Amino acid sequence: TQAERLRDGLGLKHVSTGELVRAHPEQTERYTREGRLVPDDVVVGLLRGALGDAPGGVLLDGFPRSVAQAELLEAHLGLTDVVLLDVPADVVIERLAHRGREDDAPDTVRKRLEVYREMTEPLVAFYGDRSLLRRVDGNGSPDEVAQRVHDALT
Ligand code: AMP
Repeated sequence: TQAERLRDGLGLKHVSTGELVRAHPEQTERYTREGRLVPDDVVVGLLRGALGDAPGGVLLDGFPRSVAQAELLEAHLGLTDVVLLDVPADVVIERLAHRGREDDAPDTVRKRLEVYREMTEPLVAFYGDRSLLRRVDGNGSPDEVAQRVHDALT
């Protein structure tokens, strides 16, 4: 939701690895249906194919999801900002319950939160150390959060 607003507001090219993953189920479904991360070589291959040229800059949505991915990215692209939408787990669970994607089933969501804590949360320190992290309170309406994201980036 927020990525689409940023794309429209700032003229960025929006690349969502989750969307790329869902568009290639034959390579990814065995992982996504268990709430696991798709292997780096698959995700990075999809990402490379989608980046193309983007004179106005790129908004990466859902990537990186691990320190290994962040290190790979750092070797190839310079980031200017990393936005963390900070939402309590119970609010995340409540939102996903109404979205109805296949990987939003309660057991899969639990696994995804576990994977988040183990694999993705270390990026808070990784990007904090690099002074790139913009932590935004993601609790609230889409409009309220959009205003905070905008303020964090300008
Ligand atoms: P998302 O739409 O960002 O919630 O992603 C949905 C699913 O796609 C995740 O639960 C992962 O299985 C997979 N996925 C998306 N982005 C990545 C990534 N950067 N690395 C590995 N798997 C990913």
